[in-house]
Amino acid sequence: MRKIQMVDLKGQYQHIKEQVDRSVQEVIESTAYINGPEVHQFQKELEEYLGVKHVIPCANGTDALQVAMMGLGLKPGDEVITADFTFAATVEVIALLGLTPVLVDVDPISFNIDIEAVEKAITPKSKAIVPVHLFGLAAQMDELMALAEKHNLYVIEDNAQGIGATYTSKDGTKTKTGAIGHVASTSFFPSKNLGCYGDGGAIFTNDDELAHTIRGIVNHGMYERYHHDVVGVNSRLDSIQAAVLRAKLPHLNNYNAARRNAARKYTAAFAGIENIITPTGFCDAGNSICDVCDCHVFHQYTLRILDADRDGLVKHLNEKGIPCGVYYPIPLHLQKAYRDDRYDEANFSVTNRLVKEVISLPMHTELDDVQIDFITKTVIDFVTKA
Ligand SMILES: *Cc1c(COP(=O)(O)O)cnc(C)c1O
Repeated sequence: MRKIQMVDLKGQYQHIKEQVDRSVQEVIESTAYINGPEVHQFQKELEEYLGVKHVIPCANGTDALQVAMMGLGLKPGDEVITADFTFAATVEVIALLGLTPVLVDVDPISFNIDIEAVEKAITPKSKAIVPVHLFGLAAQMDELMALAEKHNLYVIEDNAQGIGATYTSKDGTKTKTGAIGHVASTSFFPSKNLGCYGDGGAIFTNDDELAHTIRGIVNHGMYERYHHDVVGVNSRLDSIQAAVLRAKLPHLNNYNAARRNAARKYTAAFAGIENIITPTGFCDAGNSICDVCDCHVFHQYTLRILDADRDGLVKHLNEKGIPCGVYYPIPLHLQKAYRDDRYDEANFSVTNRLVKEVISLPMHTELDDVQIDFITKTVIDFVTKA
């Protein structure tokens, strides 16, 4: 059996090595390292892939969130509602900009922001909602957009884990995540579904004016050379990373299909094991994994382990040479940096439980049947003995 990895970037690289090496070499020869033609081409290709009017590349997914909020003109004192169960980047930029983070509970089935909790958290100071398409599954965008319209809020999609995922609206319209809200952010961190070989990120929007504002913000607030109209930042995707992303983008649908295929095998193996809850919330919200659309792109394959020793399982898997992850072990509202007297523990019952139950198994494009078989047998062995 090949050594099992949480993410197999080397294995994936082997298949595209020629293209990547050639493109990177060409960038080096061209010396157009910043804002070169590769960046512009990648931007166009990603706009086309997503069906979104504007892609603005930037330095990483955290900057993308920050710049999106700056572009919307959010001001200190404005409240921004986001999920308690996610990576810290989201709440971090809200706090950094002097905005007031309002963390809310998530749904135990989809792991995504809970619509009722969002509605309850809306006040006259609310300005934006930041849903995260956690683990690669779209948040309930119809409901969120309706709430936003009713209360005059912006929706900023954190699409760092969801690139390539499709959301099907109640009227049947299919839209890629990141092309639905007023603005969206993504990350090209190497382990993301579309990762480069360093840091990278992008902002998406269908709003021409906002796109123009954001293009200036990522470039020191410049709209005309050496005229600084607003306070901006320096946040760029470099040409070498763009070349890597251009080589990978044509494979993204296949990459996501490979992840879904691995997820399907995991889920089949865990069927009938009582204390394992496999991830659900696919387009039909059933237990089977949809074959037809890209409704879940499985950035992570995350189980809930009930009435068993989750931490013991982590240790056991590691001892057997199986890497795994706990995303996320601490709710954001209990993190030192984001604790606040405003929060009432009673409102976080789902996150407080999930942090004790979740475990993410190896998930990438290169998993084979022998590995999946070994992983699932080892998990089942442990949880049924416990
Ligand atoms: C990875 C990630 C980010 C941050 O992306 P970076 O490129 O590492 O800055 C933000 N939000 C979520 C949900 C992420 O998973």
